Amino acid sequence: MIDRAVIVTGSTSGIGAALAEAFAAAGAAVVLNGFGDAAEIETVRRGLAERYGVDVRYHGADMTRADEIADLVRSTEEKLGSVDILVNNAGIQHTDRIEDFPRDKWDALIAINLSAVFHATAAVLPGMRRRGWGRIVNIASNHGFGGGVNKCAYVAAKHGVLGLTKVTALETAGSGVTCNAICPGWVKTPLVDRQIEARAARDGVDMGKATRRLLIEQQPSGRFTTFDQLAGAALYLCADAAANMTGTTMTQDGGWTAL
Ligand code: NAD
Repeated sequence: MIDRAVIVTGSTSGIGAALAEAFAAAGAAVVLNGFGDAAEIETVRRGLAERYGVDVRYHGADMTRADEIADLVRSTEEKLGSVDILVNNAGIQHTDRIEDFPRDKWDALIAINLSAVFHATAAVLPGMRRRGWGRIVNIASNHGFGGGVNKCAYVAAKHGVLGLTKVTALETAGSGVTCNAICPGWVKTPLVDRQIEARAARDGVDMGKATRRLLIEQQPSGRFTTFDQLAGAALYLCADAAANMTGTTMTQDGGWTAL
């Protein structure tokens, strides 16, 4: 049972949506965030609230905007009383060689995947410190450890997230606040579906073959990391068992970073 208030950024799709549901199922009040069709988001919000009997809200903050991130945190504190757990999950991908990488894509990717983690962390920390309890879970990536061809902005951002995780952990050590990162390898979400489609087009193969090639080249287990596995890691980081665990990374990449 997690009787806490949680913000999951980028939770209208993929990993964030799964983590938001896992926190709601564990009894937490949840604030959803992210883009998408307003009616669909409302259906999801209502569905989670009814299914799990918890307070579920939505805030449409654009994670490229520091002022909107501040408002996401402020309005959650007003409406739910606190932000006890922050899951920095929102992220985008764009692939291109460095010299061809569009400058606006670089800026957007760094803003959403890295700067938003700083802005949201800075906004939640005063309240967490005051209450003497807080959990910040950053969804980084195996690309926080190593490079990847055509992924300059993503790799730079995820390395940055791991650095920021460590600094947040050191600055909050002993305060009751922890900050850790989860580093997934391939997870089957729209973000990865687009990369599989590009791979299928490039190699002239169907989606099944492109998927197998993608997995086997980089994820030795040959399996996607699942939403349930990531939810288990996030809930663990918020449990008492992880109270003295801070500044760490939990990889769930089927052996990718062991290569
Ligand atoms: P996804 O595309 O399914 O979901 C991304 C979410 O971020 C959506 O809810 C989207 O609306 C939101 N978002 C995008 N731009 C936003 C903005 N400007 N403001 C607010 N919200 C915004 O992606 P996913 O695969 O679930 O990825 C989630 C996180 O996990 C990302 O940080 C990604 O880097 C990381 N990750 C994913 C994988 C994978 O294989 N899918 C692997 C490692 C890490």
